[in-house]
Order: sequence, then C-alpha cells, then structure tokens
Amino acid sequence: MSHISDNVRALLAELPPGVELVAAAKTKTPAAILEAVDAGVRIIGENYVQEAQAAIAAVGRRCRWNFIGRLQTNKVKKAVEIFDMIETVDSVELAREIDKRSAAAGKSTDALIEINSGQEDQKAGVRPDEAEALLRAVASLAGIRIRGLMTMGPFEGDPEQSRPYFRETKRLFDRFAALRIPGVDMRYLSMGMTNSYRVAIEEGANRIRIGTKIFGPRR
Ligand SMILES: *Cc1c(COP(=O)(O)O)cnc(C)c1O
Repeated sequence: MSHISDNVRALLAELPPGVELVAAAKTKTPAAILEAVDAGVRIIGENYVQEAQAAIAAVGRRCRWNFIGRLQTNKVKKAVEIFDMIETVDSVELAREIDKRSAAAGKSTDALIEINSGQEDQKAGVRPDEAEALLRAVASLAGIRIRGLMTMGPFEGDPEQSRPYFRETKRLFDRFAALRIPGVDMRYLSMGMTNSYRVAIEEGANRIRIGTKIFGPRR
C-alpha cells in the first residue's frame, strides 16, 4: 500500500509560503511519480538522464523536471532537451557544454551552481571560495542562465551538523545577489533533504529536495 499522496500533502501543508518542494525521484517508478504529482508536487528531481526520459515519457509535462545528479558531458545534449533546470553546474567546462548544446537547440537552460559547502574532496560542487569566479565566467553565456545555488551538505546523522553548511551557502547566495551580475538571477536556493529540510528552511532555503519522506526508502 502506498502513502505517497499522504506524504506529499503533509509536506506541502508544513512548508512556509515561498518554499517549493522538489520530489527527488531516483529509482522510483513512473507510477509513484505520477502519484506524487497528482497529490500536488510541481517539480520532480531526477539524478539520471535515462531514468528521467522514461519517467517523462510516462508522466509528461504536468510538472517541471529538474536534473539534480552528476551530469556527464556526453549526457548534456539530452539533458538540455528534457530538463527545465539543471541544478548541479559546478565547472566552467560543464557550463560551456550546456551553453553550446542549448544554443544549438535554440534555447537557454536555467541552471543552479552547486556549492560543495562541506568542502569534501569526494563531493560534487564548486568550492565556496571558487564559486564567484565560476559565476562570473558563465554569466555571459547566452545558452545558460544561472538562477541560484544548490548544495547537498553532509547528509548523514544529525541535521544540526548541516546547519553551518546551509548558512554558508545562504551567505554566498546573498552576496552573489548583491553583486547584481548581468545575466545572473539569484532567485533559488536549493538545499535540504529528508533529514535536514527543516534546518535548511530555517537557514533560508526556498527549494527543498525530498526523496525518502515522499517515496519511502530506496532499495
Ligand atoms: C536523493 C537526493 C535527494 C533526496 O534525498 P532524501 O534523503 O531521500 O530526501 C536530494 N538531493 C539530491 C541531489 C539527491 O540525489
């Protein structure tokens, strides 16, 4: 028996105004995604391009589709075609590829810069002290439009441990917004997952990415 719709409704009721829910759907079936959308989810987050293609084919464009995984260069062309936003831009090379493929498709792709707020070597994302340079380097590219920041933070254990990383990312977000760089629209701050979203909202997130609390544990 599925409680996906109950989980979605409870989450939506809990969110303060201005905070949007992204349902992180990795490994979940199109039927499960559809149930979440029917219950009020408006943005689905996907980690894998191929999995997303199948889900989009089944669910369609009743919701928006954000890419939240690691994007390999050879998948950019497809990703640009199917996603409304790519949340995980962390290098000039990746941004240039998105720009190139978007321009070829006659479009501009919305993107977030992923911040490696924990500064962990094995994690994706640009280091906080390198983020402004990346932002400035990609601001002028016509095929990609930076619309905010995303971070994972350390996701094990006590959510309070994530707080300093969320706070640091919010600080960057505010600083970048104040720079008023032409072509950059600092609007979305995507941070917080099942165990940490309350802390993330307290620290200023306006997008949270929730998987387990909606769909149950992943196998
Ligand atoms: C899986 C995933 C989430 C959601 O994680 P949960 O702990 O299941 O809520 C959020 N963001 C990203 C990038 C993910 O890959």
